[in-house]
Amino acid sequence: MIERTRGLVIAIDGPSGAGKSTIARQLATRLGYKQIDTGAMYRAVAYLMSQVGIDLANEEKVASFCKDIDVRLDCRNGTQRVLANGKDVTDYIRTPEMSLLTSRISALRPVREAMMWAQRRMGRDGGVVLEGRDIGTVVFPDAELKFFLYASPEERGIRRFAELTHKGEQVTLEDTINDVTRRDEQDSQRDLAPLRQAEDAIPVDSSGIAVEEVLDMMVAAFMDKMNKMETEK
Ligand code: C5P
Repeated sequence: MIERTRGLVIAIDGPSGAGKSTIARQLATRLGYKQIDTGAMYRAVAYLMSQVGIDLANEEKVASFCKDIDVRLDCRNGTQRVLANGKDVTDYIRTPEMSLLTSRISALRPVREAMMWAQRRMGRDGGVVLEGRDIGTVVFPDAELKFFLYASPEERGIRRFAELTHKGEQVTLEDTINDVTRRDEQDSQRDLAPLRQAEDAIPVDSSGIAVEEVLDMMVAAFMDKMNKMETEK
């Protein structure tokens, strides 16, 4: 068994708009764990790339760009901030344009490798809830607890729409559902680390289910895992 000093590694993977961020944040709070939003890390890379206008088809250029990027997650006053090369980019990374660009750049090998190593470093001691697309399959295939969170495309589009309009973005529901579906297709069909449920992940359908109910189920699975690990010692 892997020795982790701070607790378990918990992976929550799934498509966009399934409620991963809300669930991961609240689960981390309940357990006293750290939340690692890996989507925010890819978004930060997309933001940096958009600033320099890098040619995404040039793997060498992308690789050398990735060598110099430093993406960090910083929790201040209960809110997570994303720092890219020292700059707080939190307020710029969640626009619809940035979402689609992120989905494109996250299919590139140098980007995935840089993020994978950064995420492994951040999570290896445990006591973390990581949310993303490939946490249970690639980043931490040995995570002690894995969930795959999903919901119907309509429900996911409606959630994203509510989030975006709340932030003042001018979007339509139809466009948002289309964007979510397009991003899922890109994320699921890419060659590297596609969005996929790990064999040992617990599937959770969040359609029409209250956050509290999903959390209770996850905490129960966590307790169950802790008990099993205790008896295996
Ligand atoms: O989770 P979020 O919607 O913020 O993720 C934005 C994009 O980042 C996803 O659509 C996906 O392309 C990429 N991503 C990824 N692997 C992860 C997390 C996010 O490829 N582990």
